[in-house]
Amino acid sequence: MTQPTVIELSGLPKQLRTVARIFAEAGFSVYLVGGAVRNLLSGKQPEDYDLATDAVPQQVMRLFRRVIPTGVQHGTVTVLFKGEQFEVTTFRSESTYSDARRPDAVEFGVDIETDLSRRDFTINGMALDLRTGVLHDPFGGRADLAQGVIRAIGDPAERFTEDALRVLRAVRFATQLQFRLADTTRAALTGRSRELSAVSMERTREELAKILLADRPSYGLGLLRDCCLLTAVLPELQSCVGHSRADGAELFTHLVRCCDLAPTKPIELRLAALLHAVAEAAGSQSSDDPPEARSATLAYRRLIALRFPNATASEVAHLIGNMAFEYRPDWAESDVRRFVSTVGDKHVDALLIVARADRLACGDTQGVQDLDELAERVARVRERNDPLTIRDLAVDGNQLAAAGIPRGPLMGRVLEALLDAVLAEPHLNRADRLLPLARQTYEQLTGEGDAHRGGRRRD
Ligand code: ATP
Ligand code: MG
Repeated sequence: MTQPTVIELSGLPKQLRTVARIFAEAGFSVYLVGGAVRNLLSGKQPEDYDLATDAVPQQVMRLFRRVIPTGVQHGTVTVLFKGEQFEVTTFRSESTYSDARRPDAVEFGVDIETDLSRRDFTINGMALDLRTGVLHDPFGGRADLAQGVIRAIGDPAERFTEDALRVLRAVRFATQLQFRLADTTRAALTGRSRELSAVSMERTREELAKILLADRPSYGLGLLRDCCLLTAVLPELQSCVGHSRADGAELFTHLVRCCDLAPTKPIELRLAALLHAVAEAAGSQSSDDPPEARSATLAYRRLIALRFPNATASEVAHLIGNMAFEYRPDWAESDVRRFVSTVGDKHVDALLIVARADRLACGDTQGVQDLDELAERVARVRERNDPLTIRDLAVDGNQLAAAGIPRGPLMGRVLEALLDAVLAEPHLNRADRLLPLARQTYEQLTGEGDAHRGGRRRD
């Protein structure tokens, strides 16, 4: 018999070791499972610690003072212990999955090897016995981890049929870890876009977000394309495959490269980079909107369908809708102020970042330099505290009303005209200068003071 692999436990967090001792002293087994084992074996710091035990939730709740019943029917509770939290799941074996999503029945009380056999991939199918340090690795997870392979446990086709979310998880882990899919696993998940469409949007979104936040999302998006799965996740991006842009580059390649080049936080940056030109491929459209506005609409709809928060979808659409600006070094200071005012001060930095990723992806070094210059000019506008919005004006609606301009849509137009004047010449932003200008604008708008007022058409 081969020697068991024993892992040194003294490097684990103290709270974890204490929790493990409490299980052991009560006569229960306790194992570290999932991502933490993967990370430990590849020398990475685990983010969280998932535990598996033969104790059932009621027993776990009796062992610790603070336990949240996270998902008791599935055997999961969260133990809070000295500032740390541990997700503890009772060993289980799952039976049939009639909806390809959720097991119909969960059975408790099996052993660790059975528990591992229900898990998705070999690298996720290892358990570290926290009493002895012995590593249980019945499916060769360690070897796959060393070789960089995502391999389904058991028969891949069966496992993907049981739970279609695993299709996306395979691509997600491959992307996060920069691993390849084992041939049989890859063959078994290829083309399952119809089953993937049946997975809940929330779960699809969670996996997609993890793919997009990996070091190189282009790898995962390319896998989705090659495995004929992209249609189920981002159909707009699928349309970009094989579509040539004006400069001859393939649109899909350009977009995923932009996505790689955008920073990971916040996720809006990567989403905007990825979707910023999807409408170019959407074919002949009835809408007269410019392409960036159409891309913004497509992106917004897709992100809402994927249950991204409305704030995320709106921000992405706003960024995409403003992508078409063309900065030139001969912009006047007033052009820079207008740009910030139109885009909105709080969106400008993000827009410049996404636009920069776009120029970089095109290999447009001059464009990148120009954008860096624009960023500096925007910073100077901010330093000077130049007025940029109607709220920054030296007069408000009350003062205009007092000056005889009735509230309503016309007052809105007067305020816009004042802002326009102030964006051109910030020194005009004083009440004594703006009030006469307001009056004059109002009169022009109403036709008051017009010598030929009697001739105004009244139809
Ligand atoms: P991370 O938390 O870093 O994303 P993880 O491996 O911990 O990675 P989780 O989604 O937290 O992933 O799941 C924990 C473990 O539960 C996995 O390692 C895997 O063993 C198992 N698991 C999760 N989802 C499934 C699934 N759909 N099918 C089979 N096993 C699963
Ligand atoms: Mg986890």
